[in-house]
Amino acid sequence: MSETKPEKKILDLARRAMPKQTPWERVKNFDEVALGYPAETAVGEAARCLQCKKPLCNQGCPVGIDIPGFIRRIVEGDFAAGVKKIKKTNALPAICGRVCPQEEQCEKTCVLGNKRSPIAIGRLERFLADWEAAAGRTEVPDMAPKTGRKVAIVGAGPAGITVSNDLIILGHDVTIFEALHECGGVLMYGIPEFRLPKAIVNREVDYVRSLGVKIFTDFVVGKTRTVDRLLQDFDAIFVGSGAGLPWFMEIPGENLNGVYSANEYLTRVNLMKGFRFPEYKTPVKRPSRVAVVGGGNVAMDSARTAVRLGADEVHLVYRRSKAELPARAEEVENAEEEGVIFDLLTLPVRLIGDANGWIKEMECLRMELGEPDASGRRRPVPVEGSNFIARFDAVVIAIGNSPNPLIPMTTPGLEINKKGGIVTVPETAQTSRPNIWAGGDIVRGAATVISAMGDGRVAAASIHRYLMNLGSKA
Ligand code: FAD
Repeated sequence: MSETKPEKKILDLARRAMPKQTPWERVKNFDEVALGYPAETAVGEAARCLQCKKPLCNQGCPVGIDIPGFIRRIVEGDFAAGVKKIKKTNALPAICGRVCPQEEQCEKTCVLGNKRSPIAIGRLERFLADWEAAAGRTEVPDMAPKTGRKVAIVGAGPAGITVSNDLIILGHDVTIFEALHECGGVLMYGIPEFRLPKAIVNREVDYVRSLGVKIFTDFVVGKTRTVDRLLQDFDAIFVGSGAGLPWFMEIPGENLNGVYSANEYLTRVNLMKGFRFPEYKTPVKRPSRVAVVGGGNVAMDSARTAVRLGADEVHLVYRRSKAELPARAEEVENAEEEGVIFDLLTLPVRLIGDANGWIKEMECLRMELGEPDASGRRRPVPVEGSNFIARFDAVVIAIGNSPNPLIPMTTPGLEINKKGGIVTVPETAQTSRPNIWAGGDIVRGAATVISAMGDGRVAAASIHRYLMNLGSKA
């Protein structure tokens, strides 16, 4: 009798692709580009996870999600349990699943990445969050008894929302004060609808509201009331006011008409719905040749927005090479597919206007890469005599942002660093003032959603310890 060899287990190594709108469809609309995994695809992708005994993916997550835990629930088909697992440490899964740079965090440390492609952790997180929304369910964590202690949060961005979520669950009374008329911070006014639908941001804000968090919009802390005035009514304050102060290149011509900071450009389109003018009252120019200066996510978002507003040619002007582009690889690929032209190793040196003060041309220099600089990236060096002039009727500057200065300026005793950020103790997020905490972009300068959320978690734990030492007032 011949012995049959045991069948070798064939590892299913292929990462499941995410369905997307085709480039020719999506350049004509502002709808979301990536369409999400259907359930069958999500289960197939989740089944690739090796369920490592000592998972490395967890270590790459700033908010400490139990990644193998929620993936296992997907394989088992228990999606509700999967959502609950994520929400233990992350109140914004539909957002993180869409915009987190997973390739630099959890997916970077996935062991499958060594041989083939890592598990699509972000897409699976998004799948669970979207499944919960579509099922009309809201998984709510267990809430601690009320303590009677009151916390004020400045800013309803990801940092502020995370602190609110954690502190309300721990039994404290939480009030958010937000300067704009909508909550979400950059998620609402910066990241475009085609990458992060605003209905999703609203849903996640509504979720923390449903837990009992009070929110006051159109309330500019530092103007409407100072931090010190709020401290008369609250036991502790968390400042999550972000980094919305745009940098400019400081070259001639930046004050010409038709030259925007990316902040203004994206806010007009995302928050004020300029692309639906006159239905909405904030117009936005629809130029034919647009230059976007920069190479990060903000630059990609601006360039892709200009494409959708109907520009004939959109150029992304970046002083280093493609390898150094700081934007997420997926967004670079999307921009390329949508026809954005990448003018790499190019540095603008002058903006030139017409007789009416409108931008008409941009003078640039060609660059080459030299030795690595302090950031470890090769330094761009101008090629002498390589100046050239290109015609543009709009220029969007997307080269970075500094922390918003209002709270630092109006709060005596708050230590500030050279870049304008609030100084905190990293382990507690505590500032130089004993009852004030801070986190997110107001501390780090322009960073990421998940790092803002990670700071929020650290701050919430520290604020909770502080309040418990004061004792319950309930
Ligand atoms: P913010 O999101 O800036 O929120 C701060 C909030 O505070 C705002 O709502 C603001 O109105 C409010 N505020 C400010 N001052 C006051 C005041 N005085 N009183 C009351 N309220 C105040 N990160 C990623 O991880 N992935 C991405 O793909 C990505 N893309 C981006 C695209 C763009 C266009 C931009 C601009 C940023 C992007 N980022 C991305 C960065 C990310 O959005 C930020 O790092 C993150 O939002 C920071 O969160 P935050 O809560 O610290 O601040």
